[in-house]
Amino acid sequence: MDNYLSKKIKSLPISATLEMAAKTRELKNKGIDIIGLSLGEPDFNTPDFIKEASIDAINDNYNSYTPVDGYPDLKQAVCHKFRRDNGVNYEPDQIVISTGAKQSIANTIQVLVNEGDDVLLVAPYWVSYSAIVILAGGNPIEIRSDISTDFKISPTQLEEKITKKTKLIIINSPNNPSGSVYTKEEMLELSKILEKYPDIFILSDEIYEHINYGIKHFSFAKIPTMYERTITVNGLAKAFAMTGWRVGYIGAPKWIAKACTKMQGQITSGTNCIAQRATITALKAPVSKIKYMVDEFSERRKLVISLLKEIKGIKINNPMGAFYVFPDISYFFGKTIHGVYIKDASDFAIFLLEKAHVATVTGDAFGSPKNIRISYAASRESITKALDRIKKALEN
Ligand code: GLU
Repeated sequence: MDNYLSKKIKSLPISATLEMAAKTRELKNKGIDIIGLSLGEPDFNTPDFIKEASIDAINDNYNSYTPVDGYPDLKQAVCHKFRRDNGVNYEPDQIVISTGAKQSIANTIQVLVNEGDDVLLVAPYWVSYSAIVILAGGNPIEIRSDISTDFKISPTQLEEKITKKTKLIIINSPNNPSGSVYTKEEMLELSKILEKYPDIFILSDEIYEHINYGIKHFSFAKIPTMYERTITVNGLAKAFAMTGWRVGYIGAPKWIAKACTKMQGQITSGTNCIAQRATITALKAPVSKIKYMVDEFSERRKLVISLLKEIKGIKINNPMGAFYVFPDISYFFGKTIHGVYIKDASDFAIFLLEKAHVATVTGDAFGSPKNIRISYAASRESITKALDRIKKALEN
């Protein structure tokens, strides 16, 4: 029956992150003790003050369709957040609330990208960027980086990939999967190149903004010459432990926000009413209220880095944000370990799943075939146990 499916869906890869999460669940349900370090999902509960706001919303009978672009007072709260945390001024008609940052990204790409347009992706990049670009008829063009430059690109590398067909570049700092954070100076250098090409737009995915261990977060839209062509994407999932609530948003030029609202109005309508009400409370609260989670991620980061450094053949950098490490494991390619031949990063990730019972994600999915992604959004106990298993499985 698959023959009846559209060419579009048949050519679309399955999300590697979600596929690994599903596989982990399936093996766990079979009673196998898998430690899941594949999904970028905080293991904390949503903070009580946010949960209480959602219960109030239910009791206050927030149950009807919501405005497609979000409740007006939520859009005000987002403007307040952008001013307070990012020093960027947006008016409510520049804001669109969506069902997760993923929808915000998909809306933006759908409204800007024409068939045949190039979209520059800084590799390693989050798995869904390329798939969403392909769905819109665009060509994902990779600008590659690796561990030797801390997974960051230079202005020269950026300029080399720009052609007449380039419509958009996606920047993601802190980065999923590498954890790299661009400094303000590095962002300014990239913007100097983009200033020469006024027809290129910038999607700045800042979903990991608050999960940062020392390099001050800098929003691309804060650069005056970039403001009119930057779409800033953010959401609640990561910093507020609200993955399942599905709330994301953009700040963008008015005409782009209007187009995203039109797109969303035909596909999903406005985001869930209860989640939107809870988001107002979350965004108005001082950032200090969620710091306890970032502090814990910071401890886990130290732990995972020190344990990985003890394993021969694994190369690791010093990721300054998000909750991922992205080690280079190419040392193992072409080797046979416990009777299993490791050809590439996918083989390596499968080996870890089957022999160490630890779920990670292959770097291929992120445009980096020498690496695997390990999420440390898991307890310290799980991290210690998982790394001990990996070490033992890779011995000899
Ligand atoms: N963004 C998270 C990750 O990369 C969640 C899964 C997804 O949507 O890809 O693991």
